[in-house]
Amino acid sequence: MPKKKQFDLHTFVAGAALKTGKPFSLACNCGGVVIIMPPFQDEYVVCPKCESRIRMLVIEGDPGYIIGAEPDGSPSLLPVQGSASPHPGTLTVSERNAILAKVRAQLATKGK
Ligand SMILES: [Zn+2]
Repeated sequence: MPKKKQFDLHTFVAGAALKTGKPFSLACNCGGVVIIMPPFQDEYVVCPKCESRIRMLVIEGDPGYIIGAEPDGSPSLLPVQGSASPHPGTLTVSERNAILAKVRAQLATKGK
């Protein structure tokens, strides 16, 4: 029997948001919103709209985004939810491009 998938989605959450003790909203891919009430004990939340189990990966501090990678290996900005810092959706195209250019330059240096 195939093992049931443990989580449907993963999302990144700012550790700072969990420490404030204030509720914050977590957006699901379907457009549904889950309200998180810290302190948060569970590893995942369930979307009230599509019932996806969303695993929360806590990122230390309060970054607006972390650097991820597209399937083709090019860097991308992944939003960190609950953060008070600007997240990728609020950055202008040129701001995003500037960040990604910096990341590419760092990757190029590492490769040498
Ligand atoms: Zn959903």
